[in-house]
Amino acid sequence: MSLFEMAKIPMETASKLINLDPNAEAVISQPERTLEVSIPVKMDDGTVKVFTGYRSQNSTVLGPVKGGIRFHQNVSMDEVKTLGFWMTTKSAIAGLPYGGGKGGIVVDPSKLSKGELERLTRGYVDRIAPLVGEKKDIPAPDVNTNAQIMAWMMDEFSKINCEYSPGFITGKAISMGGSLGRTSATGRGVITATLEILKRKGIKPEDATLAIQGFGNVGSWTAKCAAEKGLKIIALSDISGGIFDPNGFDPYKVEEYAKKNGGVIKGYPGAKAISNEEVLETEATVLIPAALELQITAKNADKIKAKMIVEAANGPTDADADKILEKRGIPVVPDVLANGGGVTVSYFEWVQNLYRYFWSEEEVIERQEKMMVKAFGNVYDAAEKYHTTMRVGAYIVALSALAEPLKLRGII
Ligand code: NAD
Repeated sequence: MSLFEMAKIPMETASKLINLDPNAEAVISQPERTLEVSIPVKMDDGTVKVFTGYRSQNSTVLGPVKGGIRFHQNVSMDEVKTLGFWMTTKSAIAGLPYGGGKGGIVVDPSKLSKGELERLTRGYVDRIAPLVGEKKDIPAPDVNTNAQIMAWMMDEFSKINCEYSPGFITGKAISMGGSLGRTSATGRGVITATLEILKRKGIKPEDATLAIQGFGNVGSWTAKCAAEKGLKIIALSDISGGIFDPNGFDPYKVEEYAKKNGGVIKGYPGAKAISNEEVLETEATVLIPAALELQITAKNADKIKAKMIVEAANGPTDADADKILEKRGIPVVPDVLANGGGVTVSYFEWVQNLYRYFWSEEEVIERQEKMMVKAFGNVYDAAEKYHTTMRVGAYIVALSALAEPLKLRGII
């Protein structure tokens, strides 16, 4: 089964539960438009290498396409279609006036020089430019893309269109029209979702322990925001492996160590070294996968010892694992809800760009938390009402938001 087919399973369940018009499901099930591009790049050694890139525009039912761009050797059309589908769902759940999409380039960026990376980034924008823009499709960062890459993209797009275009892309540096609070937004939202599920399950934050897989943008900010709220982090990991300390980590110190240690947390002083698998199987109150997709599968779902899972990464749990976790009574706060803080503050950034009027960080955080708590409540209540999982509940909320505009616009 492809990742895209797997991603649609909870939507199909939700659709049946709410007796959705099958035409609505048929429309939402396929991207509106997909694009594959080839990008020739002059390498430093004088050769020319041609890279493959994608953009999937899954839906414009609720607004322009919104979704990040990933640079990774495993990027494929199936992956961007899936991630774009999740973005459509995520924006609808968060109550944003956006559709969803995603893009990517098949590349291991660690193998490129800075100059090669910039030329590749600009080449990608040249190829997708006719289809994107602040009212059409607004990209953002994802795995291995950051504010510098967003700056090159924004500059290239502004040159092509002969106008300063900050609203074309989000996740920019503050000096380029970025929003305060954007870098931490996804992690902050993950912690808002964590506090909400703890509340529903009657567990006090001070009694909860966390295990977090991945220490990149999302994982490290999840850890820092957790510490802010007094949650204890007992296990952490990144690509180099895991670390464990029952007394809890100070994520700022771990980050400082990683910066000095070639970007990895391996060897953090005073911690027990554990494997990535062991991090997932830690006896913690909450497990937070914040790395890549398909980390919790039929192979390890039985070994999960956490009381609940909050999905910070996109698609960390596969369909088989979902069934096992449901049977075991381990609630999963799904990705499309839990990591929606990123797109929410991307939306704030876009709004600020359109108005050329900027908000304080306190305003951003307050508005984000309010929207996140509301979205959580909607999903939790839908799951309770239909006696189903929060993942299916999330699709009930999203489908309900999409169905009426689909009809009123005359699409179905
Ligand atoms: P990132 O590249 O900054 O970090 C990824 C982290 O995962 C790194 O610490 C890396 O070492 C680690 N990692 C990779 N493979 C691993 C493995 N096998 N085991 C343990 N750790 C591993 O990426 P990110 O922006 O933090 O994104 C992480 C996830 O969150 C992705 O699924 C992404 O789609 C999702 N997401 C990101 C955002 C955002 O705002 N950046 C928003 C929503 C969702």
